[in-house]
Amino acid sequence: MRLTIIGGGISGLSLAHSLKKRLAPENPIKEILLLEADSRAGGKVRTEKADGFLCEWSVNGFLDNRPQIMELSKELALSPLKSSDAARRRYVYSGGKLRQLPESPGAFLASDVLSPLGKLRIMMEPFIPRKTDPGESLASFARRRLGKEAYETLINPMASGIFAGDPENMNVTSCFPRVKTIENKYGSLIKGMIKLAKEAKKSGKGPVGAGPGGTLTSYYEGMEQLIVALKVYLSDNIRLGAKALSIESTGKGFLIYLQGGDKIETDLAVLACPAYEASHILKDLDKELSSTAADIPYPAVSVVSLGFRAEKIPGSTDLFGFLVPGIEGRKILGTLYDSSIFPNRAPRDFVLLRVMTGGARASALAMKDDDALIDIARSELKDILKITAEPDFHRVFRHEKAIPQYTLDHHEKLAGMDSALTRHPGLYITGNAYRGVSLPDCVENSEKLARKIITDRGGSA
Ligand SMILES: Cc1cc2nc3c(=O)[nH]c(=O)nc-3n(C[C@H](O)[C@H](O)[C@H](O)COP(=O)(O)OP(=O)(O)OC[C@H]3O[C@@H](n4cnc5c(N)ncnc54)[C@H](O)[C@@H]3O)c2cc1C
Repeated sequence: MRLTIIGGGISGLSLAHSLKKRLAPENPIKEILLLEADSRAGGKVRTEKADGFLCEWSVNGFLDNRPQIMELSKELALSPLKSSDAARRRYVYSGGKLRQLPESPGAFLASDVLSPLGKLRIMMEPFIPRKTDPGESLASFARRRLGKEAYETLINPMASGIFAGDPENMNVTSCFPRVKTIENKYGSLIKGMIKLAKEAKKSGKGPVGAGPGGTLTSYYEGMEQLIVALKVYLSDNIRLGAKALSIESTGKGFLIYLQGGDKIETDLAVLACPAYEASHILKDLDKELSSTAADIPYPAVSVVSLGFRAEKIPGSTDLFGFLVPGIEGRKILGTLYDSSIFPNRAPRDFVLLRVMTGGARASALAMKDDDALIDIARSELKDILKITAEPDFHRVFRHEKAIPQYTLDHHEKLAGMDSALTRHPGLYITGNAYRGVSLPDCVENSEKLARKIITDRGGSA
């Protein structure tokens, strides 16, 4: 049996890897082909080196507390690079000032990140009743459980940091399933975290929380090292410059039409491309699937990387960076200190900062030209960090369709798509548009899908 994957981002590549490592006489799949529209594989994961700086186009790392991505690194003989201690010092820009996010309950009580009333409101969280509403927004959930101030100062910027999203329009269960599970199971996030921490201590596991946890991790040569290793492993299975335009059913399989006139016959097909591309490809095969996929919005995000001689930066550079709550009305989502998180990202005596703009908050801003984006980044850094010097290095990476948004009806879209897919046995859909946007989510979903595809065909995974 031949299986064809459309899309060579981390979702498609890790799926191909999961399937290839299981190729065996008892496995019904005998041939794997991955079609990638671009002249390079990797999708959003891309690293650029210039003038001694190492810049990430988008992904700057992943959390190491999810087994599948760590297992994948191991299988590819890669050594993950843990972020430095500085990565623990995270700030939020609130009330016109950078304030450090506390790392422990004691530090939380002493910190100035929330007012005394805001802190008191968080302490009331165990007394707030649980609510079952599958369409609840992240903003409503956070205001209900933690109060308005904690929502505006802590949760709103976190939503920008991960999803570049608008919390009023993000489905809390789809975006943060673990948080919702804790509320459902324990009736309170604080009570649930205390119980889980006790259980983890008893079983000898590390600390747990409602948040993602883990340590930010990458590779010495940047995130592209993962893509390079996957390309080596998959070599003959990848076809670059192969853009799928449409797919049709042949009765016993599928025919995929490529740009340029080629056709690929396949028994099984997986769409691992962005949802808006899946929508085009599926237009003739299934209108319902196609229109649901088209309904998943992708705001734009731009990344401006700025390198400075260290002495040009006032104040400490020994930190992860800061996020900006929407209520502050600034033009940037936040700034990361790339060369503090992973010190080899800048030459000695230089600092590499990465400024993010756009997202659901201000998508159009992210599509301005390079000079305008650099001006925005510099003027915001001047106000917030008092950096007045010219950068010694700059790069701009623009993502017109950056991160898929799990809007309030996302669960209904997924249910509709799952049900529509039953009309097309042998056709599967994956990628960051559906069940998790982070790299670890994509790799975990690929591993699960590889097992499902094999067991669906009577094989053993
Ligand atoms: C600015 C930014 C910062 C981020 N930072 C982080 C981070 O620090 N940590 C983290 O975990 N995640 C981060 N993410 C999220 C993460 O990058 C993505 O969720 C993940 O890389 C998506 O992988 P994917 O394979 O699902 O999709 P993509 O990377 O979008 O890959 C899809 C692939 O399909 C190909 N394709 C499209 N159409 C066709 C077609 N018709 N035929 C054939 N091929 C096609 C594309 O060329 C592309 O290669 C970030 C995202 C952005 C935008």
